[in-house]
Amino acid sequence: MKIDVETNETIKSRHAPLAGVIGWPVFHSLSPRLHGHWLRRYGLEGQYVALPVAPENFAEVLKNLPRCGFVGVNVTVPHKETALQIADIVTDRAKAIGAANTLVFDGDKIIADNTDGYGFIENLRQNAQSFVPEGKVLSLLGAGGAARAVISSFLDAGIAEIRIANRTLTRAEALADEFGNKVAVYDWKNLARMLKGSSFVVNSTSMGMLGQPELAIPYDALTPEMLVTDLVYNPLQTRLLAEAAARGCEVVDGLGMLLHQAVPGFEAWFGYWPEVDEMLRAEVLGR
Ligand code: NAP
Repeated sequence: MKIDVETNETIKSRHAPLAGVIGWPVFHSLSPRLHGHWLRRYGLEGQYVALPVAPENFAEVLKNLPRCGFVGVNVTVPHKETALQIADIVTDRAKAIGAANTLVFDGDKIIADNTDGYGFIENLRQNAQSFVPEGKVLSLLGAGGAARAVISSFLDAGIAEIRIANRTLTRAEALADEFGNKVAVYDWKNLARMLKGSSFVVNSTSMGMLGQPELAIPYDALTPEMLVTDLVYNPLQTRLLAEAAARGCEVVDGLGMLLHQAVPGFEAWFGYWPEVDEMLRAEVLGR
């Protein structure tokens, strides 16, 4: 039987670009739904799948993916730092953040990028009435991996001063040492003092996330001129955002960061710069 290569879907699909998200575990990831929406919406050939890979198998699996038709992957917990070490080429922003979340395969070379800071800032640019970081003060809660993306992107955007408080003080001090003299550390007990005079308040701790302890801070120190955002997006409306909105602050939820950080990877793998809009939000939220 003669097979018509042009119209045979099975053969064509072998050549469609593959991408995915590698994590351990990864079943909870919203990325397959997000990228799947864009692929359908723009009528592009390709597949985006969840790849559950244990830490001990990560390097070996990664090495083999280009040979299986993968053009790149997102990496999530616990592989973000390892991915950076394994990569052949690392972008400046991934170096600054110290972790990778987006890998692009160029032949058998791995290019590591980190789009979390980009996603964070784009979320504010798209959803805040006025986002003018130049000359302003940021108060940041948390000093983990996500905090690094927030600090690095806010510094790039021209912020004048960053104040950090974290449960483990030494972790905040290490960030201040690394990012330089615009970054100051405050004790968690002095949050009211830290918040005073801030234009931006960001929660990058996991507190407030479903199943985690509630974020308890001196909420009365929030004032209407502050723009408040939470990286936690499950639930979408966190206590921080509710308390801030009740005091007249502008608030932006954390889902937009997740959506925007996916854009550069999608473009690199599937060749199309996708839109972040209400339709995508609704799809990802399953509405
Ligand atoms: P991480 O590296 O594990 O850092 C967790 C942070 O939360 C640390 O500052 C930690 O303080 C603090 N923390 C955790 N439990 C605490 C508690 N019971 N009391 C006080 N502080 C506590 O995690 P990450 O990668 O930075 O992520 C942090 C949050 O951001 C997560 O909820 C994650 O889902 C979210 N996130 C969202 C996006 C998005 O696209 N919206 C992207 C990245 C991350 P210690 O240093 O004292 O442990």
